[in-house]
Amino acid sequence: MSVLVHLCGGCTHQTAWHQGGNGGYTPCRCCRAGTADPDPAPTLLPTFSSPHGIREPLWEPGTQRNTGTTHASRTCDCAQCHEAAQAISRREHPSAAPRLVGLSGR
Ligand SMILES: [Zn+2]
Ligand SMILES: [Zn+2]
Ligand SMILES: [Zn+2]
Repeated sequence: MSVLVHLCGGCTHQTAWHQGGNGGYTPCRCCRAGTADPDPAPTLLPTFSSPHGIREPLWEPGTQRNTGTTHASRTCDCAQCHEAAQAISRREHPSAAPRLVGLSGR
C-alpha cells in the first residue's frame, strides 16, 4: 500500500525513522538523534504490486497499519496529508468520468 509521509528537512528520511526504536535501523545521525525537522508537505511513497507493477492504493490518512504486529503504526492524520490524499484519489477516480455501464441495453 502506498503511504504519505513527511520527510525530515535535515536528512530527507521519513520522520517516523526519528521516533522510538527506529533509529537503530539506520546509520543516519539525524535519525538516531531522534529529532526530525518535518517538511509540512507530505511526500507520496508509492508501492507497486508485483508482478504487474501497478501502483497500490493509498492508505487513508489516520489509518492504523499492521495492527497487532510490532510494526503497528498510524499514517499521518494532518490536514496536509488529507488534502494530498484527496487530490490523489480525485486524480485516480475522477468523479466526472461518465459511467457507461448499463447504457448498452434497450
Ligand atoms: Zn532527520
Ligand atoms: Zn535521517
Ligand atoms: Zn501529515
